[in-house]
Amino acid sequence: MLSKLTLEEAIIKLDSKEISSEDLTRSVLSSIENKEKDLNAYITVDAENALNKAKLIDTKRAKGEKVGKLAGVPVAIKDIISTKDLLTTAGSKILSNYIPPFDATVTKKLKEADTVIVGKTNMDEFAMGSSTETSYYGPTKNPRDLTRVPGGSSGGSAAAVAADETIFALGTDTGGSIRQPASFCGVVGLKPTYGRVSRRGVFAMGSSLDQVGPITKTVKDAAIALEVIAGKDKLDSTSVDMEVPEYSKNLGKSIKGMRIGLPQEYFEGLDSRIAENIHKAVERLASEGAQVVDVSLPYTKYALAVYYIIMPSEVSANLAKYDGIKYGYSAKDAENLMETYLKSRAKGFGPEPKRRIMIGAYALSSGYYEAYYLKAQKVRALVKQDYEEVFKKVDVLVTPTSPVLPFKIGEKMTDPLQMYLADVYTVPVNIAGIPAISVPANEVMDLPVGMQIIGPQWEEEKILNMAYVYEQNKEVS
Ligand code: GLN
Repeated sequence: MLSKLTLEEAIIKLDSKEISSEDLTRSVLSSIENKEKDLNAYITVDAENALNKAKLIDTKRAKGEKVGKLAGVPVAIKDIISTKDLLTTAGSKILSNYIPPFDATVTKKLKEADTVIVGKTNMDEFAMGSSTETSYYGPTKNPRDLTRVPGGSSGGSAAAVAADETIFALGTDTGGSIRQPASFCGVVGLKPTYGRVSRRGVFAMGSSLDQVGPITKTVKDAAIALEVIAGKDKLDSTSVDMEVPEYSKNLGKSIKGMRIGLPQEYFEGLDSRIAENIHKAVERLASEGAQVVDVSLPYTKYALAVYYIIMPSEVSANLAKYDGIKYGYSAKDAENLMETYLKSRAKGFGPEPKRRIMIGAYALSSGYYEAYYLKAQKVRALVKQDYEEVFKKVDVLVTPTSPVLPFKIGEKMTDPLQMYLADVYTVPVNIAGIPAISVPANEVMDLPVGMQIIGPQWEEEKILNMAYVYEQNKEVS
């Protein structure tokens, strides 16, 4: 089945004309058709435009015309990333009729690379969640076990990649939303350094935390995809003007003598089967010549608390623009302007965005700002410093991606705090703005477990290489 191809394989076979983009796209679309009733990984499937684009690429290739770097490869895009003329809902009712007039920069880059966009993937509403259950469009199921969640908030992207409903996908990560679903679905997820990838046209959740990144079948695929989407964008002043390395060409270097830190705080109180599994994976890396050292990140324990002040504060500001006037859902039964605002927001947002808007508005309000938001910003600096200190001693950190195995649908929906705790190992990385990747380790009870590799700022190459070496040398369980 062509839909099973990795991004790397698809590029080679398309370039050599061994396969056509039309056949590859049809294979992906038929996976979608067969599996979507079970999985619900997509909010929108754009079959017709995808096939037209695929045929166009095939014709260009046949004529020997120049084509883009990923020409003819099907891709799925998380539905919080703007796609011109294609419904973009952010998983919310309030954007249920929103057709963007412009492309996000990452969408533009995918189009310039001549990918075939097959659709928009399901997600927690405005990327708020760890299970893809808060979507207005119903939950996505985990392809590995349909009674379990795929993780979130990029659960649709991770499920689509795991189920061969696309060749690769884009997700966004504010506190773990690329890495945690990648871990739950047994695929690779990379959150780049803050500023590495443009956020232009990506609906903001927590602007100081959000990053776009790839979800893929292999580490090499993540490297290839990052090369395409990374880089300075003059439309995003937080994107940084630094050369984009050829990530995919720099894989497979020896890790002999590299130092891996195991932060003790990340191994406390987690499922012992996961701990054991990650220790086994670390042994693999040690047998490739890496040195393993125990380290401590004392401020990590405050990271989740800091996140749940800073993120909702930014959410309350970022979501203020959805007012039922400019675009999106507008309540029909409103009598005046104020009622339009109130009713559109009351009916347009689900419980999770509302909860966060309220927490954020409170934390930012006069009298509380200093006690909460300002304090959280100070502790944020300390969490960041922890990493800076530890990276003087080690090259990368290895941790579990998630403290728990993929949980059952409905299991944590009534207890937001339990849901928030699912991100305890991923959130600190966003607080510090550094890169991290989740790569499948061995399984526990037939369920995927992700190993997280965290690196210093701008050192995506290091974590990709470490993940690649592990992937290539992994024992089959
Ligand atoms: N699950 C986390 C939250 O609910 C992270 C979400 C994300 O990374 N977008 O905030």
